[in-house]
Amino acid sequence: MKLKALTLNGFKSFADKTKIEFQPGMTGIVGPNGSGKSNIIEALRWVLGEQSVKSLRGGKMPDVIFAGSQTRAPLNRAEVVIELDNSDGFLKQQPPELVITRRIYRNGESEFLINQKKVRLREIVDLFMDTGLGRESFSIISQGRVEAIFNSKPLERRVLIEEVAGVLKYKKEKHRAQKELEETTGHLNRVADIITELY
Ligand code: ATP
Repeated sequence: MKLKALTLNGFKSFADKTKIEFQPGMTGIVGPNGSGKSNIIEALRWVLGEQSVKSLRGGKMPDVIFAGSQTRAPLNRAEVVIELDNSDGFLKQQPPELVITRRIYRNGESEFLINQKKVRLREIVDLFMDTGLGRESFSIISQGRVEAIFNSKPLERRVLIEEVAGVLKYKKEKHRAQKELEETTGHLNRVADIITELY
């Protein structure tokens, strides 16, 4: 699978629609301090489902929307789109071309799309879970993160290893199933109580 293009529109310092097309090989992004290099990486993490505003250096999620400058008014919407070449079938049961879109509006409303079809955030997160590309993946290492990994507690490091090994997805599914089981047990207990009351 290859990352073909990343388009930012109203995301952080990118007030204008900006498309970055990635060519085969290595891509380097250079620019003066404060020119938006980290914002590009954050856009990538955001479209992959990032939910932590802290790791996006903001107070609340709508802070990722262009906040205005001396010459430009603030915008009301941020959009990030990634185009992926999945012709090698890396993402199972997915088409050869994938376009993932995430939007946020000032009122906090969000939209997520896979190939123009509206989906829930969870579907995007599940799509990339255990691929090494997810929102918390180690494929995207921001400033200070290497140090943070070295200094992390054994339990935190274990989560990283579990993602590498591809077991995190199953652990999350197990957790979801256990929650459903607990709820169902609760419902069954209520039914049993009602039956006892009736007889
Ligand atoms: P450095 O080389 O110092 O790490 P950088 O090129 O990585 O810098 P970024 O940190 O990506 O730069 O960009 C910071 C710039 O983005 C700042 O000028 C900041 O004002 C601007 N910025 C961040 N959020 C927004 C926003 N919501 N609206 C407008 N501008 C923003």
